[in-house]
Amino acid sequence: MGSRNGVFSARSAYHLLSNKESSHRLSTASDSRIHDWSMVPADVWKIIWICSTLPKIQRFLWRACVCGLATGDALTRRNVAADPLCGRCGECETISHLLLGCSYARVGEWEEGIPIIDSLVKLCLFFLWLSRTDLVFGHKIWQPNEVICAAVKAFQEFVDIQTTVDTTPSTVSLPQQWIVPPAGYVKCNCDSSLSMDSCKSGIGFICRDHSGAPMVAISDPVSFSDVLVGEATVIRLALLEIISTRYARVMVESDNINLVTYIRDGGGTSPLLI
Ligand SMILES: [Zn+2]
Repeated sequence: MGSRNGVFSARSAYHLLSNKESSHRLSTASDSRIHDWSMVPADVWKIIWICSTLPKIQRFLWRACVCGLATGDALTRRNVAADPLCGRCGECETISHLLLGCSYARVGEWEEGIPIIDSLVKLCLFFLWLSRTDLVFGHKIWQPNEVICAAVKAFQEFVDIQTTVDTTPSTVSLPQQWIVPPAGYVKCNCDSSLSMDSCKSGIGFICRDHSGAPMVAISDPVSFSDVLVGEATVIRLALLEIISTRYARVMVESDNINLVTYIRDGGGTSPLLI
């Protein structure tokens, strides 16, 4: 990713997320369950999953690339009552518009230059999305410079944490880098999100082969009342999905230590709810 003048711009972010092929996909696809992965170059996935940033930023970028974010356009295509237009400029609210095409997103080109650092650009995209969500739900109206300031602040915190961990490795947990599975294995990364508003809860998983190439990925809104249930549900769905493709060597990664403990224990001490 690069820019001749060395400043953050929508164009540099564009190169991070995509290229010509996938940009078409970003602007047209809408179904998060059915993905034509061949449309997304492998380099894009590598940039997302093998990068130094927070896991939630990686998940956000992945969802952006598979059109798995609840934009007005995506919701309307799924027959959900929502405003399909951008709340800032009135154009069709696709993810490519929100992050790249909207005049609000392009303000970054005219702000004081900030260094192009992969992690920082990714955070800018994340906070662009966050500012849109706050706008839609009436929480806050972000000024463009606030988006950049929030990204810079989060980036600095991320750098500080890494520095701290480097000096005290036994006391602080690092954001983990994704590691490819051994040859012949498939690795499923699963996660769930529980919201007090059950309508906003959901699950998602991605299965990748030993080269890191995605084989299948699904994100779905699912109602559940306990995060443990959500985490268990997504692992079950991921296993069913990958088993249906006749892969027998499967590795599962989850960030819920309680569930991992229960599974390793063979269910002997699992709470009744799972
Ligand atoms: Zn707009």
